Amino acid sequence: MTEKGFTIDFGSSEPTTTPVAAPAANVAATTSHSKLMIFGSGPAGLTAAIYAARAQLAPTLLAGYEPGGQLMLTSEVENFPGFPEGINGPDLMAKMITQAERFGTVIVNQDVERVDLSKRPFRAWSAGREFTADAVVIATGASAIWLGLESETRLRGRGVSSCATCDGFFFKGEEVAVVGGGDTALEEALFLTRFATKVHLLVRRDTFRGSKIMVARAQAHEKIEIHFNREVVEVIGEKKTEALKLKDTVSGATEQLAVGGLFVAIGHKPNTELLGGALPVDAAGYLQVKEHSSASAIDGVFIAGDVHDHRYRQAVTAAGDGCRAALDAERWLAEHAV
Ligand code: NDP
Repeated sequence: MTEKGFTIDFGSSEPTTTPVAAPAANVAATTSHSKLMIFGSGPAGLTAAIYAARAQLAPTLLAGYEPGGQLMLTSEVENFPGFPEGINGPDLMAKMITQAERFGTVIVNQDVERVDLSKRPFRAWSAGREFTADAVVIATGASAIWLGLESETRLRGRGVSSCATCDGFFFKGEEVAVVGGGDTALEEALFLTRFATKVHLLVRRDTFRGSKIMVARAQAHEKIEIHFNREVVEVIGEKKTEALKLKDTVSGATEQLAVGGLFVAIGHKPNTELLGGALPVDAAGYLQVKEHSSASAIDGVFIAGDVHDHRYRQAVTAAGDGCRAALDAERWLAEHAV
C-alpha cells in the first residue's frame, strides 16, 4: 500500500516484490500434450484455467516469466468483488494461481517464444520445450505505453498511474494532470473531474487526436484546463508526485506545474508478438473475436482479456472473459470429440 492507495491497474502503479508462486516448480509435471493450452497468467488466463481445470481438461498454462500479469504492478485493489477491505494486487493473483492449481492446472512459468496455430494439434515452444494442445486460449494482455522517464517509473503507484478508473478515487480534492490527446486521455480527464479540483490536460501537439465530441466535452468542462504543445520532461517528487516539469514544444521553454497525480494516457499495446501475425487484428493492433463469443478466426483458438478488449481493461472484465473462453473451448472440444 502506498501513500495513495492504488487499485486495479492495467499498466500503472507501484512495482512490487511480493512473491506469487514457486517459479517453475511444476514444470517437471508438464506433459507435452494437453487438451487446452492457455497463454498468459493475468486474471483472464487464470480464470480460464480455473474453469477449464474444473471441467477436467487439465490445462497447461504458459504464464510467462512474470506470472500474474499487470496486477503484479499494482498495490491496493479495491474494485474486485469479494474483497470489501481491498486486496494487494500480487496477493489477488497468488490466490488465483492457487485456485487454478487446486483443480489441476499445470502452470509453467516460462515465456512462450513461438507458436504454430496453422494446424492441430496447436504447438508452442518455450525454453527449449514443445507444448501441444487440441485447443488454445490466448490471454496475453496489453501493456500501457509509458512516457519512458526515469522519474515516471520511480513514482508509479506514488501519484503516477495509467488508469483513472482504478486510481482516480485517490485524488479527491487535488489537482491532477493527464498526458495524451486521444480519446483515452479525454475520457480519463473527464472521469477525473469527479474527484480532482482541476484536471490539466497536456497535449504534445496543437491539436487533439481524439473524437470531436470528446474534445468538445473536455473543452466545455470548467474543471479541465487544456495545455497544447506541452511535453512532460520530468515528474518531480521524492516519495510521491508533487509537480511536473513541462516543456513547451514550440518555444522550448520549461515550467513547473504543481499536481498530486499524473495519468499517462498515450495508448496501450496489445501483447500479440508471439503470434507472428497468425490472427487478424483491428486498426489498433488488438485481436478480433467473433461476435458474442471468444472464438478467433482459427477454429479451436479462443481469445480472452485485454489482448482483444481495449474498452474495459479491468481485472474483473478480463476474468469474465477468461470464463467465457474456457466455456467456449470446453464446448468446442466436446463437439469435436478431442
Ligand atoms: P491514440 O493512439 O488514439 O492517442 C494517443 C495520444 O497520445 C495521441 O494524442 C498522441 O499524440 C499522444 N502521445 C503518444 N505518445 C506520446 C508521448 N510520448 N508524449 C505525449 N503524448 C503522446 O490512443 P488512445 O488510447 O487515446 O485511443 C486508442 C483507440 O481507442 C482509439 O481508436 C480511440 O478512439 C479508442 N478509444 C475510444 C474510446 C471511446 O470510444 N469511448 C475511449 C478510449 C479510446 P499525437 O496525436 O501527437 O500522436
